[in-house]
Amino acid sequence: MLNRYTYSQKNTSSFYYCSKKDAGCKARVKIVENTVKLIIGRHDHEPPNYIYHNSYSFIPTYKGKHLLMYKGYTFCQDHHSLSYNCSKRNSGCRGRVKLMKDGKIGFAFVQHNHEPPKYVRRSSGQYVKIS
Ligand SMILES: [Zn+2]
Ligand SMILES: [Zn+2]
Repeated sequence: MLNRYTYSQKNTSSFYYCSKKDAGCKARVKIVENTVKLIIGRHDHEPPNYIYHNSYSFIPTYKGKHLLMYKGYTFCQDHHSLSYNCSKRNSGCRGRVKLMKDGKIGFAFVQHNHEPPKYVRRSSGQYVKIS
């Protein structure tokens, strides 16, 4: 990742192409020994909304509880532990997230057997379930 754009290596050359290359972006960078040597072309699009691996949010629910939202799915806390089970666990989904003590995601099983629930994010930062 460079300047918020993401690149991927093609073959074993030292050129990394914009991850939107298939969409027609011609930007590429030459990286030699982990140093950017050359930037060629300009992006014809905004940087992708890169989702950091550790990015999740909490959705407060009634009774002072909260859900953890990760990659569009919601998880319920398992007895005040750092383990979160998919909200659809009762439907047999095995989706699970485990947080580390420092708040980072230590483990995530995100192969759900269902579509993500539909939430919209309000400008206030609150999530509202719409289905
Ligand atoms: Zn690009
Ligand atoms: Zn699930």
